[in-house]
Amino acid sequence: MSSIFKIGNRNNSFDRTMAVEFTQLAADYKAVNLGQGFPDFSPPSFVQEAFCKALNGGFPMHQYTRAFGHPNLVKILAKFFSRIVGREIDPMEDILVSVGAYQALFCTFQALIDEGDEVIIVEPFFDCYQPMVMMAGGTAVYVPLKPREGCGPVLSSADWVLSPEELASKFSPRTKAIVINTPNNPLGKVYQREELQMIADLCIKHDVICISDEVYEWLTYDGTKHVKIASLPGMWERTVTIGSAGKTFSATGWKVGWAMGSGHILKHLKTVHQNSVYHCATAAQVKQCSF
Ligand code: PMP
Repeated sequence: MSSIFKIGNRNNSFDRTMAVEFTQLAADYKAVNLGQGFPDFSPPSFVQEAFCKALNGGFPMHQYTRAFGHPNLVKILAKFFSRIVGREIDPMEDILVSVGAYQALFCTFQALIDEGDEVIIVEPFFDCYQPMVMMAGGTAVYVPLKPREGCGPVLSSADWVLSPEELASKFSPRTKAIVINTPNNPLGKVYQREELQMIADLCIKHDVICISDEVYEWLTYDGTKHVKIASLPGMWERTVTIGSAGKTFSATGWKVGWAMGSGHILKHLKTVHQNSVYHCATAAQVKQCSF
């Protein structure tokens, strides 16, 4: 039958993603899947029990809840992260609970990036940043982490560093945002405070937003400390921090994530969220609050 309609072509170049492709290939060839990271063990039993308790918690657990996050969850996230960021986080204004960190990222790019904006992405990066920037009409500008000069063989993920000069050269009058990911997927690099300060100084100098993907914030080893760039002076007002309960509690299939930042930025993410998914599964959010 010949069609009379024309399919929109705006998204044609994003039809393939690494995660979908590798997951299928791994299934087809019964190979170990290194293309998508998820635990091959169950979440801790206290998390599973809390989820079961939520599911058995009566009819409200099975119905719609507040669009931007169940009140219990946003309150506990605000209380918890206020201590870490060193400021009072407003649960109703400064947090958006989303369908995984993935959707928090999507809302962030859709809300903040306009046609013609440039977004600096640090390489290597989680694969969805690039298509999400482009779907919002922006242009991705890349800057690589490189082995530290003169360090000889790369011994640890900390040996991968940004060149301050190279990074500075990527900022232009069209730069709207920079995306960092700490700890980094795939390198495992945890940015040190001085490295974050260097990025923060550039963001402030060029009046640029920082999108900080911190879904692996609790996976640090050998005494390495994760620092939130939003906690550095002058950065709360210009940073969107992305988090994931799925990663934190080894329950990636529940898809509970969040974006956190100043209410004046977050309100734009909420607009995208309420007009796309509206909210994330009620019972999956309430489990986070019952311990
Ligand atoms: N950011 C990074 C760096 C990731 O690796 C992933 C998942 N692999 C996500 C975001 C998405 O997290 P979620 O499962 O909470 O959507």
